[in-house]
Amino acid sequence: VAFQLNNSGLLRTQGLIGGKWTEAYDGKTLKVYNPATGESIADVACMGGRETEDAISSAYDAFKSWSKFTAAERSKFLRKWYDLLTTHKEELAQIITLEQGKPLKEALGVITYGAGFIEFAVEEAKRVYGDIIPSPLSDCRLFVLKQPVGVVGAITPWNFPLAMIARKVGPALACGCTAVIKPSELTPLMALAAAELSIQAGIPPGVVNVVMGNAHEIGDALLSSTQVRKITFTGSTAVGKKLMAGAAGTVKKYISSRYLWKLDGNTPCIIFDDADLDIALKGTVAAKFRNSGQTCICANRILVQEGIYEKFANALINAVQKLKVGDGFSEGVGQGPLINEAAVQKVESLIQDATSKGARVILGGKRHRLGLTFYEPTVIGDVNNEMHISRDVTYIAVSRDVALTQVTLVPVERKHLDLLHPFCGSKLKRRPVRIANDTNAGLGSYIFTDNVQRSWHVAEALEYGIVGVNEGLISTEVAPFGGFKQSGLGREGSKYGMDDYLEIKYVCLGNM
Ligand code: ADP
Repeated sequence: VAFQLNNSGLLRTQGLIGGKWTEAYDGKTLKVYNPATGESIADVACMGGRETEDAISSAYDAFKSWSKFTAAERSKFLRKWYDLLTTHKEELAQIITLEQGKPLKEALGVITYGAGFIEFAVEEAKRVYGDIIPSPLSDCRLFVLKQPVGVVGAITPWNFPLAMIARKVGPALACGCTAVIKPSELTPLMALAAAELSIQAGIPPGVVNVVMGNAHEIGDALLSSTQVRKITFTGSTAVGKKLMAGAAGTVKKYISSRYLWKLDGNTPCIIFDDADLDIALKGTVAAKFRNSGQTCICANRILVQEGIYEKFANALINAVQKLKVGDGFSEGVGQGPLINEAAVQKVESLIQDATSKGARVILGGKRHRLGLTFYEPTVIGDVNNEMHISRDVTYIAVSRDVALTQVTLVPVERKHLDLLHPFCGSKLKRRPVRIANDTNAGLGSYIFTDNVQRSWHVAEALEYGIVGVNEGLISTEVAPFGGFKQSGLGREGSKYGMDDYLEIKYVCLGNM
């Protein structure tokens, strides 16, 4: 694998500033590890404030010409970038498996998914329409223009190393903005490979910049710069709030799109008695065990109605038992390692807390015999909202990293669900919708039912930005991704994902 990658020209270790591959100014490097083997894969430049300031200046200079191109002209470059990402998807998938650990087949899927955000943005940029407003005065004409916001700072996490960048930088560039990307220090190689392909696509120097290293210094430089007009961030609540507060100092127009994926413990999945068992099972396993449970919309609290509880629990245990854990490069592996030791410790502490409060470990519940950061796919029963595993706050306080591979099953009694009369929306405030909404997070949710009225009522009552009905895989570049409550501001993907990168300008043409 390493040999193939070494010859691909995509394994970059320096940062990209103004079109030039650049070492850290003080020569410092940081190590990138393969979570499946614990081996170090690369030493990448460990940058800080000074490099970031230069990257911002380059992006600011590049903005002057990039923003003047027509959407069609920018589209040509971005289309080429998308084509190159697609052509090189095998090598890029290997990079993801190498530095992030997800199985190769899944990695291939997320390259296609990630690149899709660029393709969608390219197409959508041609439809950034303004408005003509009927004037109240006969000698005036009123217009609304949409213009690119300026330099964008994009701070991304490690769980989807390409998609998280593409869903920010794709629309940003398509709208005419330029970008300084700060990928997670755990997965910088994917960001650097994507940047290399942006150069090969002919995207002008300075339009795409990548710096990584000291997150605090880089973050501070992005926040304090008056040239950076938007910060877009995906990651933890704690960091998201800090960035929001920091962005206030320079009143960045579009503060943040943040997805509190670390609160994924809250993502509810409600299975009603009338659900099709096979569909519910397939959807739940897909929603829970994707990326070994390390996504922001992994189903975590599975609320199961009494009548189907036993049947569903048995089928789930059976399915989870079959999941093969191992190195993502091995054939047939469906579950890779967790990202790092802190992630494993977090899972351990959550399970310890849950069992001390009466939960039962039905399956797994311990480190995998493969060692390192491998963890057994786990099912826990009798979970309630008092346990940290179901609630958000502790996730922030206890650890930086939460990566859950465990399923929690919460039984819901029939008497509570009988209140869910399809035409009686107000009763939905009761369980299980009440349990589902009893959290500060509100990103993804799932329901499984064959009753159309119920699916509508519950979908409307859930305080979540995304609802999957009889479907466990719901992410796509054509639909808006984002959350209610503390799960974020703004939306990524779809036509709505363009808005954050555009300013609205009102022009009044008077005395005509
Ligand atoms: P994760 O564990 O998913 O990486 P974090 O919120 O810790 O979640 O990190 C998400 C991204 O935010 C990463 O790229 C990380 O380096 C970056 N980050 C963390 N702390 C800061 C900070 N103080 N300023 C700017 N970026 C930060």
